[in-house]
Amino acid sequence: MSNSQAFRIPRIGFGWDSHEFKPGIPLKVGGVVLPHHSGLAGHSDGDVLLHALTDALLGAIAAGDIGTYFPPTDPKWKGADSAMFVREALRLVDEAGYVVGNIDSTLILAAPKIAPHATAIQQKVADLLGIEPSRVGIKAKTPEGMGTDNAAIAHVAVLLAEISWP
Ligand SMILES: [Zn+2]
Repeated sequence: MSNSQAFRIPRIGFGWDSHEFKPGIPLKVGGVVLPHHSGLAGHSDGDVLLHALTDALLGAIAAGDIGTYFPPTDPKWKGADSAMFVREALRLVDEAGYVVGNIDSTLILAAPKIAPHATAIQQKVADLLGIEPSRVGIKAKTPEGMGTDNAAIAHVAVLLAEISWP
């Protein structure tokens, strides 16, 4: 039994990512370079928020995860701008017949403080997604009792709406 013809069902996606801090490299969060003594090491430019966002977009259309399209073992992605991963995920979302309704995110990191940069990150992510900043939630917490002070963690939830044709 299927009711997918009778209802336009929105789709939810969820993404999670973490990266370790490494001294002397730039810190990029949501496509914004933040002033800090350490950056995030690992896949591409280490943008933990854009990686979680990419996974949330792909998850919403059940299209695998970031590693499916951009394997971290491929040297081609070393230092790459993570915005390109989001753009590719958006292309697949569009192809599947969906648009982004809104996203919400939580960053978990001991330092630096995200609050002074939250508006810039919100604007940058909104631009990347082609939606209003009011549809992009950026929240941040410190990792109390988790013992992850040398890592940045990001959670992203996304809601997709079906493209409706007149
Ligand atoms: Zn990552």
